[in-house]
Amino acid sequence: MKFISTRNAVIHTSFHDALLLGLAPDGGLFIPETFPHTNAINEAITISELGHIIMSQYINDIPELSLKKIIHAALNFPIPLIPLEKNLYLLEVFHGPTLAFKDVGARFMAQTLAYFLSHEKKHLTIMVATSGDTGSAIAHAFHDLPNLDVFILYPSGKVSMLQEKQMTTLGGNIHALEIEGTFDDCQRLVKQALLDPDLRNGRLLSTANSINISRLLPQMIYHSWGAIQLKQFGITEQPILSIPSGNFGNLVSALYAKSLGINIEHFIAATNINAIVPDYLKTDVFKPMPSRHTLSNAMDVGNPSNFERLLAFYDNKIDNMRQAITGTSITDEQTLHEIRDTYQRTGYLLDPHTAVGVAAARQYATTKPIIITATAHPAKFPEVIQQALDITPDMPEQLKAALERPKQSKKMNTDYETLKYILLH
Ligand SMILES: *Cc1c(COP(=O)(O)O)cnc(C)c1O
Repeated sequence: MKFISTRNAVIHTSFHDALLLGLAPDGGLFIPETFPHTNAINEAITISELGHIIMSQYINDIPELSLKKIIHAALNFPIPLIPLEKNLYLLEVFHGPTLAFKDVGARFMAQTLAYFLSHEKKHLTIMVATSGDTGSAIAHAFHDLPNLDVFILYPSGKVSMLQEKQMTTLGGNIHALEIEGTFDDCQRLVKQALLDPDLRNGRLLSTANSINISRLLPQMIYHSWGAIQLKQFGITEQPILSIPSGNFGNLVSALYAKSLGINIEHFIAATNINAIVPDYLKTDVFKPMPSRHTLSNAMDVGNPSNFERLLAFYDNKIDNMRQAITGTSITDEQTLHEIRDTYQRTGYLLDPHTAVGVAAARQYATTKPIIITATAHPAKFPEVIQQALDITPDMPEQLKAALERPKQSKKMNTDYETLKYILLH
């Protein structure tokens, strides 16, 4: 399997090169040149088996045994499907070290990079823009790995205190930069650095945002695993997936999973009021905007980076996209209401991002089962839970440990030259 750019189907890149480059040389995003199909994935019994069936379709430059080890290391926590109410199921992808789904992609990427770098005896600098959860997932996935340094750019005052603790307190090869701007500023700075020949000169630079194809591909595994668990419950109807979305990496990986052969009926793209994609589906107009701050802040994205992949997947045919994806935008008020309502009815505590997915699922009129990707643990957002219900969620051990460590980060403005200076010194 080779990878091409969303902007150029001529240059064919290996997985290794796509992983290390992050962004295609023409500024586009890497996508698989073809979308393979195998019915074997519906028959997998364990998640490791499923992971290997899926990843070996896309990655041919890592030997089978090493690939199995990488998948095993990346998915070293359970991803259970939990029945919530009639026809509603939660796929809990938040039992990893930083209690959010991004652990899966981050850990897979870290493991594949460590594999290649150790074989090639090279050093690599990773740049990450984050609106919350990416930073902590990457920090934990890469911490203490040899041959790797990581710079994390996050918007000052726009991530939760716990998220900040999780990404700024590890030290060592993890460097946190607190940007006096928005997430979009962080993303712009990273893109600019990756395309800057002065920085590229003499050093290997890459990113670990959801734009890296190595983050996207393993996410197919849990979407598929959700559908398989549903079948193991004895439910034969194909599920609808409701996916809380920001940069749309999670949704795109789910589309890839369906195209590989897993049985999925339809997709709900659930956003907060940063409704760029739902608006696009409604109006045919893609209109990026400055991101607006909400309670589900890991989804506060005004210019979703994976939109190019979404378009490429449908060959720019919006009608095909509309047939497969329903866009739904949920306000903060509805999010709070959903957290409250679900808790009072079922005792289940939703985090604000998952609540957006559940609220969107409830709006979708169907008698079919809906699987909502539960993207984060509620304990990561105690302020929101407090606001919704006036209770404090129990804090898992991983979070308690992060809280006790001191913050180590450098504050900087949104000037590219400032970032460049820091990176070069
Ligand atoms: C990143 C994130 C999302 C959005 O995922 P995308 O792949 O960017 O669409 C949703 N929920 C949580 C908790 C996240 O951290």
